[in-house]
Amino acid sequence: MGTPFDTAHGKLSIVATPIGNLEDITLRALRTMKECDVIYAEDTRVIAKLLARYEIKKPLQRLDAATEIKKADEIIVRLEAGEHIALVSDAGTPGISDPGSRLVARVREQVKMFNLFTKIEAIPGASALTAALSIAGLDATNFTFLGFLPHKKGRQTALKKIALSEIPVILYESPHRILKLLKELEVLEISHVTIARELTKIHEEVVDGSPEEMLAHFTAHSEAVRGEFVVIVSS
Ligand code: SAM
Repeated sequence: MGTPFDTAHGKLSIVATPIGNLEDITLRALRTMKECDVIYAEDTRVIAKLLARYEIKKPLQRLDAATEIKKADEIIVRLEAGEHIALVSDAGTPGISDPGSRLVARVREQVKMFNLFTKIEAIPGASALTAALSIAGLDATNFTFLGFLPHKKGRQTALKKIALSEIPVILYESPHRILKLLKELEVLEISHVTIARELTKIHEEVVDGSPEEMLAHFTAHSEAVRGEFVVIVSS
């Protein structure tokens, strides 16, 4: 708990939410969303479902990648007036391949510049990155997280770096591009990938093998080319 002194200019709570299973929410996240003045959400409809499940009624505002900078200015004004603002993304931890980091950077800059007493707190919780690693059975003492690879410019360079990496590389991928990515990894002669799909949901699945084997798996089970994917390249 912060003292009134360190929250005199408001509090910004960065709140992790579930990545599928609505039970994956911490008690602290629920309390924060109950106590705050307003929740800024990437998509207010997505968070509305979570709030309904826990019977939380709270004003919602939209803050997505396109509006993050503009909304940051609005949030700074509200914080200076002493409000408690919560930020959530659609799933998992804000700032991890999601909006949040530019808002936090702007608030931090403001705090430094004007010696404000604004508290910025993390309410940690689910993330597809840590969930996938926790059940991959790989040594994750060191790893590189690249999130979504660029679609065009810089993609080949990134892929070559992945092929040369001596530690596991974690990627996020959409169902539309998973087969393309596997074909690219096959060309690079990557020997082992782990694919964690639909984590925490009914169709959760973790499969691993060579990119060629993974392509054969998803070709044979076309219903599995759906949902959300974490890809771990481990050689
Ligand atoms: N902020 C989120 C986090 O902390 O993991 C990530 C948001 S990013 C926009 C969405 C991507 O995360 C998806 O395309 C997928 O790669 C991954 N992801 C999110 N939920 C997932 C799940 N339940 N199973 C597997 N991957 C998931």
